[in-house]
Amino acid sequence: MDYSKQFRVTPGSKVDLSQIDAGFKDQHESHAHALPEIEAYEQKLQELQYLMYAEGKRSLLICLQGRDAAGKDGTIKHVLGAMNPQGCTVSGFKVPTKTEAAHDFLWRYHRATPEKGQVAIFNRSHYEDVLVVRVHNLVPEDVWSKRYDHINHFEQLLHDTDTHILKFYLHIDGEEQLKRFKQRIDDPTRHWKISDGDYAERPLWNEYTQAFEAALSNCSTEHAPWFIIPSNHKWFRNLAISQIVAETLKTLNMQFPEPTVDINEIKQKYHQMAEESK
Ligand code: ADP
Repeated sequence: MDYSKQFRVTPGSKVDLSQIDAGFKDQHESHAHALPEIEAYEQKLQELQYLMYAEGKRSLLICLQGRDAAGKDGTIKHVLGAMNPQGCTVSGFKVPTKTEAAHDFLWRYHRATPEKGQVAIFNRSHYEDVLVVRVHNLVPEDVWSKRYDHINHFEQLLHDTDTHILKFYLHIDGEEQLKRFKQRIDDPTRHWKISDGDYAERPLWNEYTQAFEAALSNCSTEHAPWFIIPSNHKWFRNLAISQIVAETLKTLNMQFPEPTVDINEIKQKYHQMAEESK
């Protein structure tokens, strides 16, 4: 199945999250059943990221959004696990600092975008400024409502300078979120992950749904598409995301750079050295 088609939000369409099954797992019965496919995509990801790093001509920005406990951290661990850390950066975005808040809302994100040859992963992203900010009225509506356009222009700028953008909304349902909160409570090694915020945001579930739907509907473009990833099953989420990232990188037709040295000459020198050391 081509997940980059299946889960892509068609530009201009109106998203209704209630119509999307968060527990979807395609034809796979279990993690074990999907494992060979997951591993094959990990391998592809590894090769393609190596090529991107070697080519040094373009970059990839992956944005992760979702409700609390949707699996942003787990996704990063999975995608990064397949990559060479030298070619990757991860940035998390929390409540803006005083300095960040003293700039335009995109400033802190722009600084974290990837340089050529690199992959950058955003754990939360510039979309927070039309999500938490909208839900909690942190700025007036006439300010946040303009941000969809600002975001689309920002992403167009990045795309025009060879930064490819993939945005993933990790879709879990209310039952799954509760299950994950309980796992955190039951497991002392996960207590550090619990924040008051998680429980404060849950009563605002519907307000968040509206805010997510608006972001997904207004900001899925040809150059920076949104994908809605069914994420109740963590392994299916990993499979779908690694397939989409790998297939996208493949379409870029990247090439290894031409060698800067004469390889035949180097080979001759090598043989000479090998002879001399006998
Ligand atoms: P995480 O859940 O990402 O692991 P935290 O539990 O520290 O980390 O949550 C970060 C918090 O920062 C979230 O509640 C998020 O909504 C908030 N946040 C992120 N960006 C903004 C923003 N631009 N304005 C206000 N709050 C924000």
